[in-house]
Amino acid sequence: MSTIFDKILNGEITCDEVFSDEKCLAFKDITPQAPTHILIIPRKRIESLKCIKEEDQELLGHLLLKGTEIANAAGLQSWRTVINTGEEAGQTVFHLHIHIIGGRQLGWPPG
Ligand code: AMP
Repeated sequence: MSTIFDKILNGEITCDEVFSDEKCLAFKDITPQAPTHILIIPRKRIESLKCIKEEDQELLGHLLLKGTEIANAAGLQSWRTVINTGEEAGQTVFHLHIHIIGGRQLGWPPG
């Protein structure tokens, strides 16, 4: 099933790009929940963490590594890395994505 993130990846709709390479794209969340709120998505279509396979191991590590580089580049000293998995957990776009959220005091536990 195609998602809005497929449309961003193929250029059908624009995004506020932060980083791009052959494996992933990072862009600002359209409804930021904090001063910094960036999404990192794999170019490969993976619906969610429910669907990852052994062969995705390197890609998943790559996404986390880029997340740290992006957070550092944004000047964050602290941030939260979130991957919502499934509807009940708050996943609304069914293309795997990592949220990098920071720039304010964050509460815990999450709602
Ligand atoms: P999740 O709820 O974890 O599936 O996160 C989906 C995120 O995608 C939400 O934080 C939305 O604000 C964000 N989002 C949806 N459409 C766009 C878009 N066109 N550009 C940037 N972010 C988007």
